[in-house]
Amino acid sequence: MLRDASGLYLIDAGFIGGITQLKRALRQHGWENEPIRGIILTHGHLDHILNVAPLVKETGAWVAAPRLDAEHYAGTPKYTGWSHGAGILEAMGRPLLRFQSFTPDRWIDDGDTLDVWCGLRAVHLPGHTHGHTGWYCETRKLLFTADLFASYGPLSHFPPRILNSCPELMRGSVEKALSLDLQGVLPNHGNAASPEAHLSRLRRLAGRA
Ligand SMILES: [Zn+2]
Repeated sequence: MLRDASGLYLIDAGFIGGITQLKRALRQHGWENEPIRGIILTHGHLDHILNVAPLVKETGAWVAAPRLDAEHYAGTPKYTGWSHGAGILEAMGRPLLRFQSFTPDRWIDDGDTLDVWCGLRAVHLPGHTHGHTGWYCETRKLLFTADLFASYGPLSHFPPRILNSCPELMRGSVEKALSLDLQGVLPNHGNAASPEAHLSRLRRLAGRA
């Protein structure tokens, strides 16, 4: 969750129980009466977009989302090769979890910027999905890395092969991310370490410690 003078912005919308967790977090910060203005997506996997439609309905937030994952938001993603397994899991999950499709208000391509928080720039990091996108804040030298890697201390890892739509693009995306001027990174899946600690884990994983 990002906050600026105009309100709150979510990076992705969470999975099962995500709305309850979000409301608890809002209360803990005393932000429960502040408007959620936007939902900024990193990619179209179900564990990131399940709550988009319900949250939009409740808050009226706009949605900005990577264009190349459009089929995911429509509930019709195509998974080929190794990622076929992920496709089967999602196909079972969508009706079970009552996924509602949605159409983003703004389609995001590499290099697009959003004038929220300290300013965010889309950094296309394909591999995990075709549209997979990190969000970079130049002022803070901080990159939201989405699912480029999962950061759990010594158990940090790149996403398993069956979850990557175009694994051949992963390496280039890791290099692209690490070529930015960075003080820290924040992944979607990780423990509560500092952005600096997450960055050193990513560098270690990439063999660039
Ligand atoms: Zn994912």
